[in-house]
Amino acid sequence: GEALAVSARVAPLGSRLVLLLVEDLTEARRIEAVRRDFVANVSHELKTPVGALSLLSEAVMDASDDPEAVQRFAGRMQIEATRLTNLVQELIDLSRVQNDDPLEDAEPVRVDELVAEAMDRCRHAAGTKQITMASGGPADLSMWGNRGQLAAALGNLVENAVNYSPARTRVGIAARRVTAPGGDHIEIAVTDQGIGISDKDKERIFERFYRVDPARSRATGGTGLGLAIVKHVAASHGGEVTVWSSEGQGSTFTLRLPEAGAARDRAQQPSGLD
Ligand code: ADP
Repeated sequence: GEALAVSARVAPLGSRLVLLLVEDLTEARRIEAVRRDFVANVSHELKTPVGALSLLSEAVMDASDDPEAVQRFAGRMQIEATRLTNLVQELIDLSRVQNDDPLEDAEPVRVDELVAEAMDRCRHAAGTKQITMASGGPADLSMWGNRGQLAAALGNLVENAVNYSPARTRVGIAARRVTAPGGDHIEIAVTDQGIGISDKDKERIFERFYRVDPARSRATGGTGLGLAIVKHVAASHGGEVTVWSSEGQGSTFTLRLPEAGAARDRAQQPSGLD
């Protein structure tokens, strides 16, 4: 395999005994390990809310003669049930973006509509924290792709911007067209004035279930799958997602995707083979 990991250890048991351990970690084994980790992570993430629900239901039964306590426990059961629903929905979304070819039902998707949708989705959360959302850019931009997937990707970025920002800050969404020899692109940049991300964490936040601060992520209903979904959507559309961030100052996530006209022209170009 490509990845050859050699770990050698020399055990000085007398002068004669040398223990050499050589391990060839093939690509297939690496993939298998990633799959196993994923299943273990999913199981763990499911177990937490299910365990809480089970304990809370017992608490409700024990407190049947105390209506106030029953109310309180029922409220917490609702929070855990919502968490479970979010997780299952994000797992379904992730499996969709990993398995479906998004370009099978690709269409021109208007950027201003996607941006408005993403902002609507976050309006409530932003409102309770008095976060101002603003968007800018030309009105006539369109991307080429699967509408639902592109909406989910941008929605996740705006949701994160709101979730990982303190009260009374600003979230900006700026769209522009970038001219490139291989075909024009659309760039949508989501900028926040939030907690930021360290260089070390920047490399890992796009991994499934990776969170810088698991407690904070859970408190805001996060699943740790959002950015993995964004990354997959971008890649399968022939684009990419990049991050710029400064700890304590804020972050900018930029989604770059093929422009609708350019992508269509490219698809219609004669291949020269027939
Ligand atoms: P989550 O559901 O936890 O938000 P994501 O996959 O969307 O999962 O993000 C992974 C982690 O990346 C988050 O838990 C958080 O630590 C970090 N992160 C994502 N977006 C931002 C942001 N705008 N500012 C600071 N940290 C962020």
